[in-house]
Amino acid sequence: MIQLIRGFKDILPGESERWQYIERTAVELFHNFGYREIRIPIMERTELFARSIGENTDIVEKEMYTFPDRKGQLLTLRPEATASVVRSYIQHKLYARDPIQKVYVIGPMFRRERPQKGRYRQFYQIDAEVFGVAEPYVDAQLIHMLVTLCQRLDVPDVHVVINSLGCPRCRPGFREALARMLAEVSGQLCSDCVRRSTRNPLRVLDCKVPACQEAIGDAPAMVDYLCDDCRAHFAEVRDTLTRASIPHRVNPRLVRGLDYYTRTAFELQTGALGAQSAVCGGGRYDGLVKALGGPDIPAIGFAIGFDRLVEIAGLNGRQFADGPQLFIAPIGDAGRRQACQWSLELGAAGVAVELEMTTRSLKSQMKRAHRMHAAHVLIVGDDELAKGAAVLRNMATKEQSEIPIEDLVGNLRTRLAADKK
Ligand code: AMP
Repeated sequence: MIQLIRGFKDILPGESERWQYIERTAVELFHNFGYREIRIPIMERTELFARSIGENTDIVEKEMYTFPDRKGQLLTLRPEATASVVRSYIQHKLYARDPIQKVYVIGPMFRRERPQKGRYRQFYQIDAEVFGVAEPYVDAQLIHMLVTLCQRLDVPDVHVVINSLGCPRCRPGFREALARMLAEVSGQLCSDCVRRSTRNPLRVLDCKVPACQEAIGDAPAMVDYLCDDCRAHFAEVRDTLTRASIPHRVNPRLVRGLDYYTRTAFELQTGALGAQSAVCGGGRYDGLVKALGGPDIPAIGFAIGFDRLVEIAGLNGRQFADGPQLFIAPIGDAGRRQACQWSLELGAAGVAVELEMTTRSLKSQMKRAHRMHAAHVLIVGDDELAKGAAVLRNMATKEQSEIPIEDLVGNLRTRLAADKK
């Protein structure tokens, strides 16, 4: 039989309830803060990602799902959402309505990474982006929103880690100092880092190879090279977080994998994830809108690893009721016809109803209702029809009562609502 592609996965009934709950919780929170949904395509022209993420990044060099379509145009399955959101913001001139736009995106991303625990080739992200606000308060607002989301979902052991990556004015000086230092220790670096040291030296800082981490023990820190404006911005982000009682730690090694980040970079990490400790990453990308052909408008955003959130969220002990409120067990043809009619009316009236459509015995229908965790079973056969009353069984208390067939739907709705209390 044909199996799914390596690094891809199915989200089955029984698991999807957790995904839906998390998504609802995030959306509700985002709406509270004035964010609105934007839906963007899963595929874009390859050059959008090459230009925005940067040619010298792992994603663009090794991980994109890129292929020519039938006319030879190079297309890529989106490895992240920001580039498409920026494209859309520029293409539809959203800034003309109001330069300040706060949007979120939820959906699958594709990266051909080595599959391992917590790393998939199709994974899901919950993203939020803010355009048009350069002030540091919005950096803090995004982090606050993430921390609140983690609290609502009961994610254990969450730490906020932040850094500043400077701006085009102060970063070159740091880059040079870092490259000089890396040249001195190049003999101790992994082959990837030797390549990165000249092309994209900042990426060496977050290399996971222990020997590289050891070799760069004395690496300079970007925070020591910040210009006055970047230093003031970073200080205000930190002060705002402190006023909001959000503990955070500065990690000078925190850089983002993508080229376009400026100033604030942040991650939410948790001890619950083992090696893949980042549940969310984000930061400013003040130059990207202009670099992609739009006006000079600052922006900031984050991407939550949805798969990781699903894995570790305790959800405050929440269980998801997966059974129907009512299972209708008909006996005989007349009962089945009547049951079918009721089930249509009940479903349309908002009752979660399951109709047994086969002709199996009442005993095996009851077994199935039990297995499905149905709250109630309604039994209707020739006897019940003749009597003018169907039998309702409460599966938890095992109590049985009669429900008049006349206005059965109305009667049942009242009874089920009373039972729920
Ligand atoms: P990034 O877009 O690389 O900054 O990633 C943002 C978040 O997405 C990370 O913190 C992870 O939680 C998640 N993520 C990134 N790559 C993967 C992957 N291959 N599989 C699962 N989650 C991922």
